[in-house]
Amino acid sequence: MGGGNGQKSAKARERAQAKLAAEAKGSQLKTNEKSMSLKCAVCMQTFMCTSTEVKLREHSDNKHPKEDFYRCFPSMTPEAQEAAAADAAAAEVAAKVAAQQAPKEKQKAKVYKGSK
Ligand SMILES: [Zn+2]
Repeated sequence: MGGGNGQKSAKARERAQAKLAAEAKGSQLKTNEKSMSLKCAVCMQTFMCTSTEVKLREHSDNKHPKEDFYRCFPSMTPEAQEAAAADAAAAEVAAKVAAQQAPKEKQKAKVYKGSK
């Protein structure tokens, strides 16, 4: 029985490692998808999210001279950019709050220990 269990756990470990590897691959794919997050709404061509507005304007000027720049890239409107910046700022604040709360929790744990 004991030997069987050992074999089982070894197989389980193998499976867990395979799962982790698969997950790592998946997250890598997700990262790649994210880096291609800019899409022209007119011709559906994708661009790296790091593409500059100048490059995107070049595309809309060359490929869709009759279309508005923001018609091609709705995410580049000042409103969308503001919303994205607000999101980033909110995430930063949340991270700061979490960092501030972490040491407090440690202090509390100490107090509880001492009072016991
Ligand atoms: Zn286009």
